[in-house]
Amino acid sequence: MEKYIGKSVYKGTAIGPVSVLKKKDSLVKRIHIDNTAEELKRLDAAKERTMTQLGQLYEKALQEVGEVNAAIFEVHQMMLEDDDYQDAIHSMIQNEEVNAEYAVAVTGDNFAEMFANMDDEYMQARSADVRDISNRLVRNLSGEEQIDWSTMEPSIIVADDLTPSETVQMDKSKILAFVTVHGSTNSHTAILARMMNIPALIGVPLELEKIHNGTRAIVDGREAVFYLDPEEEQIRQAEAAQQTEQRLRSLLAEYKGRESVTKSGRKVNVYANIGSVSDVAYVLENDAEGIGLFRSEFLYLGRDSLPDETEQFNAYRQVLQMMAGKKVIIRTLDIGADKNVDYLGLGKEDNPAMGYRAIRICLEQPEIFKTQLRALLRAAKYGTLAIMYPMIISVEEVLDIQKIVAEVAKELEEEKLPYVIPEQGIMIETPAAVMMSEELAEHVDFFSIGTNDLTQYTLAIDRQNNRLDRFYNPHHEAVLRMIQMTVDGAHKHGKWVGICGELGADTTLTTRFVQMGIDELSVAPSMVLNVRSKICEME
Ligand code: PEP
Ligand code: MG
Repeated sequence: MEKYIGKSVYKGTAIGPVSVLKKKDSLVKRIHIDNTAEELKRLDAAKERTMTQLGQLYEKALQEVGEVNAAIFEVHQMMLEDDDYQDAIHSMIQNEEVNAEYAVAVTGDNFAEMFANMDDEYMQARSADVRDISNRLVRNLSGEEQIDWSTMEPSIIVADDLTPSETVQMDKSKILAFVTVHGSTNSHTAILARMMNIPALIGVPLELEKIHNGTRAIVDGREAVFYLDPEEEQIRQAEAAQQTEQRLRSLLAEYKGRESVTKSGRKVNVYANIGSVSDVAYVLENDAEGIGLFRSEFLYLGRDSLPDETEQFNAYRQVLQMMAGKKVIIRTLDIGADKNVDYLGLGKEDNPAMGYRAIRICLEQPEIFKTQLRALLRAAKYGTLAIMYPMIISVEEVLDIQKIVAEVAKELEEEKLPYVIPEQGIMIETPAAVMMSEELAEHVDFFSIGTNDLTQYTLAIDRQNNRLDRFYNPHHEAVLRMIQMTVDGAHKHGKWVGICGELGADTTLTTRFVQMGIDELSVAPSMVLNVRSKICEME
């Protein structure tokens, strides 16, 4: 038995076999090679394996998603065989006497960068493809196993770190828990774990190379402990903990179907946060009164091109229909920082959290924004939609957005496509927006406070950096005063205000939020009944 202590992201217990996602970059070291002819042979063998895998993927996709969608794997095969790509790898191995993994990784990066900088949108989208192929080729060179989700039994996923795009591609029904060596409690992967009700630990000091797939393990989210190869007694205790958790869930279930009203009659809307259409199941299961934050950018992650209008329209309409008239607040694209996609060619930034992200991308690249707005306005006919804009810092931005929304509405009108202009609000997640909240409230229908970013920008603490977790204090008086200021700014103009950051689910603050005048709390689905029980119990 081995015992490791980490930090807990979601308190719950999991028991099961581990599946290790090995750290990719450790495999791509530059190594001097004497026998370059042998290295080229190794490259050829890996290329053959890659071609075969792509052929198998094509066949599988053909059965599952049809010819048009399967074609991408044929494109990958063609790109893998491309003369320029192959020549670049070969000449690097021969001239620089380096290992094939390194030559492939560097060539892949160079080609991806080149595609990303092209004017043609189709070519830009090939950037992600060339990275995908290069990663696959590197994995085949180094013999790294890939998780086959179709055959994997439900497991505890152990990894160095997980990006949001890796997490969204996973088959959620196969994940018992997440355990990562790095990561931070405020990262989007942590948020996803909470959303899915999955026990998760970060900052666990594991040596991944020494852990074998299939080893039995326990994740104890309450004590933040990870047991590898546990004793029988520990398994028994973990099973007992799981039963207690189940009992607690049953107790909370009594709050299903009830309104979230304090004893003195003050109503607070308890909504849920989601990242995909399938998450609506968690919302309904936990009886949330609406959706307070649909992070629409998750539709854009884990793929190699932008979702088009039809795809987005279908996703938004489906969520609205499933929520059957309950409010659904969809946040427009909040890409950038840790939520990055290769196909947009955003490039590297020194300060990505303060960089080219969210509404800034939408205002700079209005064609991307307009596609999303068209899908939203059209979907609005199918339920009670509200749109919310992220990372706002000024009234001018709101006016610019309104202009674009009016243009989109005019286009739809001319095309005789049915649409509705729904309620529109903004996220308050920058100190600038807090300071301007009174003015901003005149121009929008509501505010939703994003405490994750608001804490990061108020305290000047990177929410991604787990070394700073002890300083990242969302209970900091400065943050709480910012929230109060925002509530006052909104109410002065008769607008409602909610919290959709993780702090909204902190039940030690629920009473204080209600006293501050907060009208809505939007939390992970798994926290809805906890927060409702707290509201119902307060005077
Ligand atoms: C926030 O910043 O609090 C928020 C809700 O948005 P995200 O966590 O997606 O940045
Ligand atoms: Mg945010």
